[in-house]
Amino acid sequence: MAETNQEPVVIIGAGLVGSMAAILMGRRGCRVQLYEGRQDPRRSSQQDVNGLHGMLCNTTKRSINLALSHRGLCALRKIGMEGKVMEQAIAMEGRMIHPPGEADKNKSVLQPYDHRPGHAIFSISREDLNFALLEEIEGMPNVSVEFEKKFESFDSSANVVNVTGKEGDRSSVKARCVIGADGAFSKVREALARVERMNFSREYITTGYKELTIPPTPAGDFAMHARALHIWPREEFMLIALPNADKSFTATLFISFEEIEKIKTPEQLKSFFQEWFPDVAADNFALMPTLVEDFFGNPMSPLLSITCDPWHHKGMSCSRSEGGTSSLPSLTCPRSSFLLAGGWCKLLFKTTRRCRARPTQSCSS
Ligand SMILES: Cc1cc2nc3c(=O)[nH]c(=O)nc-3n(C[C@H](O)[C@H](O)[C@H](O)COP(=O)(O)OP(=O)(O)OC[C@H]3O[C@@H](n4cnc5c(N)ncnc54)[C@H](O)[C@@H]3O)c2cc1C
Repeated sequence: MAETNQEPVVIIGAGLVGSMAAILMGRRGCRVQLYEGRQDPRRSSQQDVNGLHGMLCNTTKRSINLALSHRGLCALRKIGMEGKVMEQAIAMEGRMIHPPGEADKNKSVLQPYDHRPGHAIFSISREDLNFALLEEIEGMPNVSVEFEKKFESFDSSANVVNVTGKEGDRSSVKARCVIGADGAFSKVREALARVERMNFSREYITTGYKELTIPPTPAGDFAMHARALHIWPREEFMLIALPNADKSFTATLFISFEEIEKIKTPEQLKSFFQEWFPDVAADNFALMPTLVEDFFGNPMSPLLSITCDPWHHKGMSCSRSEGGTSSLPSLTCPRSSFLLAGGWCKLLFKTTRRCRARPTQSCSS
């Protein structure tokens, strides 16, 4: 039974984690207010139809697809959305390893993830997943979402959250508790650090990533084996590619900033690929016909890990994903960091349970 007269649980950030947390809280009958700093991504993607690369400008769409593993599926099952989301997912039954020095992509080796048939991880569009979660929220009367509203500060003595709209308009809401799911540069975490003796670390690694595209073949098919996560492991760097529903692959080159800065011209880029990824370079770069445009047009993004401890204080908590403890994507052993949120939400459940029992008090986990 949904509460109506309670102060809302306020969630900051409507990315994968904030949206998921809002649904989980809403399903438990909490009144939830979700604030997202950006405009509704469903609207912006219609306006921004410069194809895949235009979409990459929004970090919720960075790395267009992600690998969804067992933990991710469990969380989706918990909110009754596994079936809907899986309609759009592509099973990846193993790693397809592309060995060095091999120009024939058919010489690559499939390493199954599991000996049991049907056990796989799933490639899913990050954007579609976020849209599906937001659409689910729209159907929940006790959960409301406001876009273009940024978290600014939290008055912990009164449990009041202050947000700012895009015109600079300010508003405040009294919150039962506040959950930060506002990404790697979380303002909620900053606010938390002012009221708690928080230890915090942020570590950038030397490697970053750049996204590239493997389009469908001229006949409209996948250009490589579709049901695999393709990996080109090379000592200091690697290329990966995950299948998309439109039969393209999103490829990601993980490489150090130092190395990438050495590639300044299309000729240098092509010879780098000919040396390290000969199957991609074969037949005049048939797998990546837009390599040069993608490489020089797409940003090089950093990779970092974040820890903070404690990550909650009375009625405030930052997410166990990007907001609080963000870890480097481990791509050869896929894990759903989005689903770290699953475990984190269990802690939140304890929080809301206490809220229910003692409705006048602020929450603490
Ligand atoms: C290269 C790469 C590959 C990855 N691959 C995988 C994978 O295969 N599988 C997997 O599970 N995970 C993967 N991840 C990790 C996954 O992307 C993250 O764990 C997940 O996106 C984190 O979601 P989030 O909602 O915490 O943060 P975000 O997606 O960053 O969302 C934060 C939201 O908060 C909003 N916001 C920020 N500040 C404010 C503010 N002040 N007020 C209001 N709103 C605000 C932002 O606009 C944004 O919408 C990968 C990550 C990277 C970098």
